[in-house]
Amino acid sequence: MGRVHLVNPSDTAFGTAVITPRWLYVLAGATPEAFGDPHLIDETLEQSTPSMFEPGDIVGIGIHTANALRGYEVGRIARERGAYVVFGGIHASLYPEEAHEIGGAHAVVTGDGDGVWPRVLEDFAAGTPSRVYDGGKVRGNAFVAARWDLLPRKKYMWASVQTVRGCPKHCSFCSVWRTDGQEPRASTAESVVREVVELRRMGFRFIALAEDNFYPVTLKDLAMAERRANTAAFEALKAIRDERFELMDRLAQLPKDLIFFTQITMEAAEDPEFLAAMKRARIAGALVGVESVTPEGLKSIYKDFNLAGDALVERLRSFREHGIHVLGSFIFGLSTDRQETFDATLDLALRSDLTFAQFVTLTPFPGSVDFARWEASVKGREPLVQGVPLTRHWLIPPQQRPKLYSPHPTMSAEEIRRYTQQVWDRFYSFGAVWRRSRCVRSIKARLAFVLISKLYRQMYANTGISTDSARVSRASRWARWIAKPCRRLFAARPMPDLAVPPPTPRLAPPAPGTC
Ligand code: SF4
Repeated sequence: MGRVHLVNPSDTAFGTAVITPRWLYVLAGATPEAFGDPHLIDETLEQSTPSMFEPGDIVGIGIHTANALRGYEVGRIARERGAYVVFGGIHASLYPEEAHEIGGAHAVVTGDGDGVWPRVLEDFAAGTPSRVYDGGKVRGNAFVAARWDLLPRKKYMWASVQTVRGCPKHCSFCSVWRTDGQEPRASTAESVVREVVELRRMGFRFIALAEDNFYPVTLKDLAMAERRANTAAFEALKAIRDERFELMDRLAQLPKDLIFFTQITMEAAEDPEFLAAMKRARIAGALVGVESVTPEGLKSIYKDFNLAGDALVERLRSFREHGIHVLGSFIFGLSTDRQETFDATLDLALRSDLTFAQFVTLTPFPGSVDFARWEASVKGREPLVQGVPLTRHWLIPPQQRPKLYSPHPTMSAEEIRRYTQQVWDRFYSFGAVWRRSRCVRSIKARLAFVLISKLYRQMYANTGISTDSARVSRASRWARWIAKPCRRLFAARPMPDLAVPPPTPRLAPPAPGTC
């Protein structure tokens, strides 16, 4: 059998990347020793070339909707070179036949890859591969540890570990709760701590907790189970909550220079005990999905567990008051948005003490409720772009891909795109960034903050929503250039002798309302 390659496809390579694509290293960890060390290709660093693939090699390609088209191109090239091609990832799970038809797949893995990957490789080696493998949903205690020894240390700013998969919410624009499931599956604290220690030994001190939702059980969930006298549900929820605290207690014992970043729902702001534990664990930042600043907008996306208006400002500020920086995520283009929504959103983002913000335009992602609704609404009369139906928008070449898909009741797509770009420009104007940089103390740290804010804006806004190709390529060049010094800002001296701290009894008090 030839060599195993794992490819993370990307149309844009920056030479340096912000966060390690964890799945590459997890599948490397799941690759049996008999197949040797897999060759890992992260195209956000450098693109693959056809000569990398030889006849008889096995090429695993992980795709989500945004990089599916590039993934299919790599798949066809690898197959033409005589390699065996396997697709996996969220998008391949949703459209396994598409990977066969367009991506040159010999096999497709749906669901989690960790458990089934060794069988896929062994079947190829035996010459008996299946067309589709169902990887299912791997239990938390069976998550495979990543092979960080294969990581090119000097290419990434942040490392990533995963502590929980799945999200109990059901936001209409999101596919996570459908693909990863609504039942949270948490990794053991011991295995998370072991990976973090390994990464700190290598010199990573910034680590993303790459979760769907770090706060899977809210105080409201517990109170509701208690009110309904549903003891079994209450105990199950409490067990998940206790595991979160156990994990945070363990992270708190690690070297003081470690900093973590995660994704969380806004409801965590109502839970001071949880926020205090996050601070002790040095989970210093969180992406919070604010999405919309109006009650009508939140209702339209099934996210009315969020607050709006001044109550929202207070809620977001409470993260900062507990020492947690927020990257607020907002969506534009909801049917309830009006021209004044853009200014109102910017004003709220500025008033809420957010450290960073992102402003995305509504995209119907396959697997989400919004996508199913939209697809049904245009069935039989889908507009075509370059011969591709709009309901398969990921197959349209990126330069021709529309920035918005559904018609808006009061604004044109171009208006929404332009206003969104203006909000990015104003939130990341030099003056606004410099004012926000007061969240760090020294001048050196403030300059680093400015640099990172600008990098974030260039990597995302100018390459993601701009329609001007000159602006896109300028932004890519600029991001490539600035990414290297930024990486050095995040690096730390390796600690090769760092030991894994032993488990300790729970330090924090029990959850409110529990015995
Ligand atoms: S957007 Fe966030 S909270 Fe909503 S379903 Fe997706 S992961 Fe869960």
